[in-house]
Amino acid sequence: MVVPIYNEQENLPELSRRLREACDTTGLSWEVLFVDDGSTDGSGEVLEALHASDERMKVVTLSRNFGHQPAVSAGLAEARGDAVVLIDGDLQDPPELISDFVARWREGADVVLAERTSRDDATFRNPLRAIGFTLFYPLFRRVSDLPTAPDTGIFGLMDRAVVDELNAMPERSRFIPGLRAWLGFRTATVQYDRADRAAGAPKQTLVRLIKYAADGMFSFSTKPLKIATLLGFLVSLGSLWLAAYYALSKWINDKPTDGFTTTIVVVLFLGGVQLITVGILGEYIGRIYEEVKQRPLYVIRRKLGVGETSTRPVVRREVEVSTSENP
Ligand code: UDP
Ligand code: MG
Repeated sequence: MVVPIYNEQENLPELSRRLREACDTTGLSWEVLFVDDGSTDGSGEVLEALHASDERMKVVTLSRNFGHQPAVSAGLAEARGDAVVLIDGDLQDPPELISDFVARWREGADVVLAERTSRDDATFRNPLRAIGFTLFYPLFRRVSDLPTAPDTGIFGLMDRAVVDELNAMPERSRFIPGLRAWLGFRTATVQYDRADRAAGAPKQTLVRLIKYAADGMFSFSTKPLKIATLLGFLVSLGSLWLAAYYALSKWINDKPTDGFTTTIVVVLFLGGVQLITVGILGEYIGRIYEEVKQRPLYVIRRKLGVGETSTRPVVRREVEVSTSENP
């Protein structure tokens, strides 16, 4: 089990209890790997105590807050199981589903996805988030080059083979549901109702969610570039048509069209189209820059109960951790 944790102090006791119970019912040997993503509340101490009371509860502490997807990536790189379940630490994903995952896995599925059939989600009471979530998945499905793009978060199970492939993927913008769909493998789906988070406020800021959505769009599709090209053609055609129209009207009416308004509108419109196009290009160039820098996705400060023999994924190079530095 890999669980990203960022300031989930209130949820940890309940979470660990339910995780332990759910894992025990599978009858398999298990470990829960908490990735402490630079928590600033008491989460670190609670996790330490959990590890002290149960060896199977393990902790990887990152050097600062890196974000949800990097934290999950760290967990995937350190997890040792024959199968790995990703689950959020706020109890929005019911741990009880794990036995269903395992059943599907034993039937031969390499990837088990948990698809949300409903969302009883407080984040949905925030109109901006609600609009974002409602728009994102249908849009993503249309825009992305993926064969399938289900309405799933990270919740689900992956076989060791899939995890190894995922770890070996070199890219830095890690939109995990997308990467997982890109990999393919035999996939089964389990449906569930997404609950509200048990306690605390959402830890993903709106800005981070937007970045996450943009990562999904731009790293799985070059369609925005094609849309920009199309826009260019449309505007050129439109201007040709306008030119013909004004030429004709001058010829027929024999009076020049005076046009402060038209000039301003056309100039502004063209300026807008150009800026949008440059912006789309910029999204790709920015991502190329991120990839070229080859910086690690995250830095680990400490491990509890996790062996040093981690299979270093390509994205995770050894880095000297300096204690004082923060970008
Ligand atoms: N999380 C994290 N790092 C962050 C933000 C969130 O590890 O920078 C964890 C958080 O503790 C939770 C999970 O990621 O376990 C999902 O976060 P959240 O519930 O805020 O996201 P949402 O459900 O709104 O997508
Ligand atoms: Mg949540």
